[in-house]
Amino acid sequence: MADSTFKSKCPACGTGLTITASDKLVGKLVKCPACGVASPYGKFKRLIPKKVDDHTQVTLQQYKYVVRLHDEVTGKSYDVPKGKHLVGRMTYQEPPKADIPIVTGDRGFSRAHFNLEIMDGRDGLNHAYISNANNKNVTKINGALLPGTDVVSLRNGDIISAAQTTLRFEMKRVFDESPKVDTGEDPFGTRI
Ligand SMILES: [Zn+2]
Repeated sequence: MADSTFKSKCPACGTGLTITASDKLVGKLVKCPACGVASPYGKFKRLIPKKVDDHTQVTLQQYKYVVRLHDEVTGKSYDVPKGKHLVGRMTYQEPPKADIPIVTGDRGFSRAHFNLEIMDGRDGLNHAYISNANNKNVTKINGALLPGTDVVSLRNGDIISAAQTTLRFEMKRVFDESPKVDTGEDPFGTRI
């Protein structure tokens, strides 16, 4: 996809900016390098070029999420990409049941224990949802039983426990400090 640039101003501080447009940023929060304030991408309005003549070519910073499951027993951490996932005990069969396999000797932790979904919200923030993968094995969130087929939203720091396994859910919003040139391949490589 060919990039196109447009002239704009930071909605917070008014600094003139030349921005490389990207569909990937629609609905997302981006950070002005001049004042550091994060604003929705849609607030960076297109200006008629001849009316603005003091633009600075800049690279704005984009939010990204770090989403992980941290095993409090073994100390291991597991990255959780966006999308739907099945979390369960690591096995050495092929293919494994879980696409996020937890390395544990805890036989009470099922090979298909719970579902985890990470998705973009309309507010530009990530949202996370958990549900049981089967009804035989109990899952608890912060000590409370996760009922049957309920789908429950997770927040950073929530504790997921199952049998002898304790997983801390981590979902932190951070600025991507090293934006790269957009090659159309790297999901975090957007330049605007
Ligand atoms: Zn600004």
